[in-house]
Amino acid sequence: MNDYTDSEIKEFEGKDCSTENLFCQAMEEVIYSISPLLKTDDRYKEHAILERLIVPDRVIKFKVTWLDDANNIKVNTGYRIQFNNALGPYKGGLRFHPTVTEEVLKFLGFEQILKNSLTGLPIGGAKGGSDFDPKGKSDFEVMKFCSAFMVELHKYIGPRMDVPAGDIGVGGREIGFLFGEYKKITSTFDGVLTGKPFFFGGSLMRPEATGYGAVYFTETMLEIEAKESLQGKICTVSGAGNVALHAIEKLQHLGAIPVSCSDSKGTIYDSRGVDLDLLKELKLVKRTSLETYAQKHPEAKYIPVEEYPEGAHAVWDIPCYAAFPCATQNELNDIDAQNLIVNGVVSVTEGANMPTTPKALNDFLSHKICFAPAKAANAGGVAVSEFEMAQNASMSKWSFEKVDEKLKETMQMICKRVALTAKDYGVEGNYVDGANIAGFKKVADAMIAEGI
Ligand code: NDP
Repeated sequence: MNDYTDSEIKEFEGKDCSTENLFCQAMEEVIYSISPLLKTDDRYKEHAILERLIVPDRVIKFKVTWLDDANNIKVNTGYRIQFNNALGPYKGGLRFHPTVTEEVLKFLGFEQILKNSLTGLPIGGAKGGSDFDPKGKSDFEVMKFCSAFMVELHKYIGPRMDVPAGDIGVGGREIGFLFGEYKKITSTFDGVLTGKPFFFGGSLMRPEATGYGAVYFTETMLEIEAKESLQGKICTVSGAGNVALHAIEKLQHLGAIPVSCSDSKGTIYDSRGVDLDLLKELKLVKRTSLETYAQKHPEAKYIPVEEYPEGAHAVWDIPCYAAFPCATQNELNDIDAQNLIVNGVVSVTEGANMPTTPKALNDFLSHKICFAPAKAANAGGVAVSEFEMAQNASMSKWSFEKVDEKLKETMQMICKRVALTAKDYGVEGNYVDGANIAGFKKVADAMIAEGI
């Protein structure tokens, strides 16, 4: 292990790690991974790249005051963490969820730098959001919150400066309200947010992009590593949101059999294959829990969270060929990893951001499971967001087929680049190290070229 890496981690552990665990988890993984590169190129130490990369360019924190439907005054906290713009304007989603804190957004923003770098597109890394919970709020309340949030945020964003998108709790409805307020404040119709509905500047396929992209990545990884396809294979998917629904959809297109989905209350196991139309109706139209799925399909099993042994997750106890964690961070732990391995899993693809705990990740790598890390496998969403920026800048509209083709090309390119980088640095088949090294190298080289 290179001294630079050891001292860097030590210094960080002593400073922030007691309160910033998720960020430490993400940062330590990257620093360990890139040590083979640091050992062969001392420019990174000379230019203090690690010291500079782990500190965001700026952390913007603001108060959001709004009125609920009963005219009560509500106060939330808003954030935008602009992490690094060495490769292009800051880019990354906004998350509205009660668990949002500066630490969570710092981890997501840090991951976003390397993810955006891997796409090969000119975009930097950022993340933002609020502890506001859209669940259970009326459309009018969501609109009032989004307007109040944008009153502050608009000062810091712009089509060449910072272009936020959606994430957990921020879909087309929220992006529409945020965009409406931005337009009102600035009197401009700029592509300042991506994930807009199609009829006022959105790109076709943005909702599908992350889930489809994760499956395209897996297809390519399995072709390279196992000389196999997904056709006819049993797959498990967690989550029932944007990423999960579209991963299930693409798996079905390719002839695979996704048999599960989950939400924060429970898991559905439908061994005949998930009924996607019903799932979409329950989650996108009725916004209800998955329990209703089992009422409509009594042959499917609904397993409530509280009925499953503590520490394990039902969805990862289902035998499968390929697993797709698509819900949230740290949702797949070492007990789950053991269950998957014992049941013969061949590949694991992170659709969500950092869903796998470090222990579980080590288990997968030591058992030579094909493992696709989030920063590579779920980069399809941000890639299509960049396509939306390109369409907005040229006032043009691309067809669904064109976006899909470019998405597929991008995911295949990322996968091959990650595989090749791993091989070049002596860790063939380790896509975690391959993604970290390839993503880091491009950003670091740009930082060196641009000076301090
Ligand atoms: P959504 O809000 O659309 O969906 C999240 C889903 O996960 C919901 O079904 C939610 O259930 C479920 N969930 C949340 N916590 C748990 C839990 N502890 N156990 C089981 N299920 C849970 O979010 P997205 O699909 O957009 O995002 C999912 C992940 O993918 C996040 O990590 C996000 O950062 C990442 N991502 C998303 C991108 C995108 O384009 N949307 C791009 C890149 C990454 P419930 O409704 O009950 O809360």
